[in-house]
Amino acid sequence: MPALHPVNMQPIGNELAIVWNDGSESYFNLEALRRACPCAACGGEPDVMGHVVRPLVTYVEKSFELRSCRLIGGYSVQLTWNDGHDTGLYTYKYLQQIAEKTE
Ligand SMILES: [Zn+2]
Repeated sequence: MPALHPVNMQPIGNELAIVWNDGSESYFNLEALRRACPCAACGGEPDVMGHVVRPLVTYVEKSFELRSCRLIGGYSVQLTWNDGHDTGLYTYKYLQQIAEKTE
């Protein structure tokens, strides 16, 4: 079984829908997705104990609006938000973990 990867991504309302190559679908709430941004500025780097301590990040309404999404490097999805934030690379694995948590 090949590793899961998205075959289709579509922002729908306040969600991002991803269709995986095994035919399953995941729906991500945009606000939850932004708050889970894995980039270093948003505090996505785990500390030496493996804990992820997120700094206080200020969000505005635009922070939870998705401007675009694209596949990067065959392993991650880059999300660009309407406040200009685009440094978060969500690996497929990370997305699947988020999807499992919210199901
Ligand atoms: Zn970020």
